[in-house]
Amino acid sequence: MTPYASLDPRQRILMGPGPSTVPNRILRALGSPTLGHLDPQYIGYMDETCQMMRDVFGTTNPLTFPVSGTGMAGMEAVMVNLIEPGDEVIVCINGVFGGRMKDNMQRCGATVHTVEVPWGKTISEEAIAEAVAKHPRATMVGIVHAETSTGALQSLPEISQVVHDAGMLFAVDAVTSMGGHELKVDDWQIDAIYSGTQKCLSCPPGLSPVSFSPAAVEKMDARKTPVQSWYLDVSMLRNYYTGGGASSGARAYHHTAPINMIYALREALMIVLEEGVDQRVARHHAVHLELRSGLEAMGLKYIPDCSLATLNCVATPQGVDEAAVRQRLLTEYDIEIGGGLGVFAGKAWRIGLMGFGATKRNVQTLLAALKDCLETT
Ligand SMILES: *Cc1c(COP(=O)(O)O)cnc(C)c1O
Repeated sequence: MTPYASLDPRQRILMGPGPSTVPNRILRALGSPTLGHLDPQYIGYMDETCQMMRDVFGTTNPLTFPVSGTGMAGMEAVMVNLIEPGDEVIVCINGVFGGRMKDNMQRCGATVHTVEVPWGKTISEEAIAEAVAKHPRATMVGIVHAETSTGALQSLPEISQVVHDAGMLFAVDAVTSMGGHELKVDDWQIDAIYSGTQKCLSCPPGLSPVSFSPAAVEKMDARKTPVQSWYLDVSMLRNYYTGGGASSGARAYHHTAPINMIYALREALMIVLEEGVDQRVARHHAVHLELRSGLEAMGLKYIPDCSLATLNCVATPQGVDEAAVRQRLLTEYDIEIGGGLGVFAGKAWRIGLMGFGATKRNVQTLLAALKDCLETT
């Protein structure tokens, strides 16, 4: 006898800033038999997973693999491997996640220069040009593609050009864009990128797809100091995930890969590729427009400049208790949406349309539920 009841999580509709609802197909993959992390059958699945990650990222980078850990582990992996104590770096801040990049960079011992704009705004090419001219010794520029805290979508190609013209590496947070917005790692010359599984890939949280360009690998290989994180040291991790460039099969144990999560990610990426990356992006956009017009017809307004399809940041009307509405959506309708963060705390809702959750059915269900809550709260 135990005092505990069996696990029985509710079937929520997850429309917050992540996690998104996981399709049964991925849950089934997660429940497949666990293999050993050096079993040739498993290595085959893992290699396919890395290849599908390249396909979705739009890259041929050999060093593309899933970091064991959520998006923040991916962020940390990029920073600890590409920054040495004493390096100068530049970071763009327009919300929560740019601020976290800065914190990570400082912990790596870097001198960090910031390009800051108000929350919700995006960073201009001119602002980057000014920053790289002012700090020519900087080795890297970090930026967030899809700022989940505000709904701002950052354009990247022009900025990448400015960064490379200055001879610096370009590092991008794509946690809320991979699988939901256009993202072209090679065409946009991104040197280091990290994402997460539980946003637009609709996989449970637990892995962070990352990819490093040959220039980024060169910077890592030229390090004079060891990476201070043992767990996230890519010089060791790559011997396992990519065979270190040696003949395939030469896989060195570093840590036990989260086998079943890799199955889940493999299934999630397969679903993305079956749908087609471009079609998937188009679906997110179409569903976002439908949500937007429905909300606006109800008299609600987006936070100005909020243009992400995957994360819709909507102002809470005057006099409405934003937390009470979210509470009612959850308890009466089993729908989860997010509250505002930072400067938008208490003043906005964050509605995710991510992956499996980006459907007409979810949009219409939420609109009807929200209408009810607003009329009677
Ligand atoms: C969610 C998110 C992260 C952090 O990912 P976790 O999986 O929560 O660790 C980082 N950056 C952005 C833009 C995010 O939306």
